[in-house]
Amino acid sequence: MLDDLVREGVGMTSRRTRERLLERLRERGIKNEVVLKVMASTPRHLFVDEALAHRAYEDTALPIGFKQTLSQPYTVARMTEILLEQCARRDSVFEIGTGSGYQTAVLAQLFKRVYTVERIAPLQQKASARLASLNFTNIHYRHADGHDGWSNSGCFDAIIGTAAAADLPAQLPSQLALKGVLIMPVGDDTQNLTLIRRDGEAFASSVVESANFVPLLKGTIS
Ligand code: SAH
Repeated sequence: MLDDLVREGVGMTSRRTRERLLERLRERGIKNEVVLKVMASTPRHLFVDEALAHRAYEDTALPIGFKQTLSQPYTVARMTEILLEQCARRDSVFEIGTGSGYQTAVLAQLFKRVYTVERIAPLQQKASARLASLNFTNIHYRHADGHDGWSNSGCFDAIIGTAAAADLPAQLPSQLALKGVLIMPVGDDTQNLTLIRRDGEAFASSVVESANFVPLLKGTIS
């Protein structure tokens, strides 16, 4: 299904262009073939305005309005690769910062259920319409501030934050399943991609690499 949509966009996003992106991801150290395959078949050009579609397969972040960006493909691939390699199960993933919905689409092909929250209503509406038109049926959307997690009773195999929190929101680690994994950028001027692994009641934190994300903001915009 996604392959057909990629073919439809072939005029502006040739197979060669997409292959170059995969080469670039491999050069930068992405090794997980499952992640690479999903990235190759997800039509990134459908997640940006038409005027930017010709740049959709460059390894660069792109504007999506409201001073927000669709993350760089390398970053999406790296965070997804880490989640896949570290999490014990792939039943549910919680994403903070739906944005364009591109990372959501990647996750929806790898996890049974995706729960995604976005604080800017027009972005959330556009992303959910886009993902519905791509026939995704395993994604649950919420227009809310992700600081508190999905609800007070969430229990996810994986949590991914696509905006940088000055400090890790306190509610999030407790919403992980007992062997769950969280990845998110933390810091303001200097950000670190931070990994939290839960093992029962113990939480281990480590830094993966430096990062450069838009900030995780408080409140919602309707
Ligand atoms: N994953 C997105 C990246 C979007 S940029 C994509 O692939 O397009 C980060 C997003 O996080 C923005 O859309 C921003 O509005 C959203 N965001 C920032 N703070 C948030 C918060 N507290 N709760 C929910 N979403 C938030």
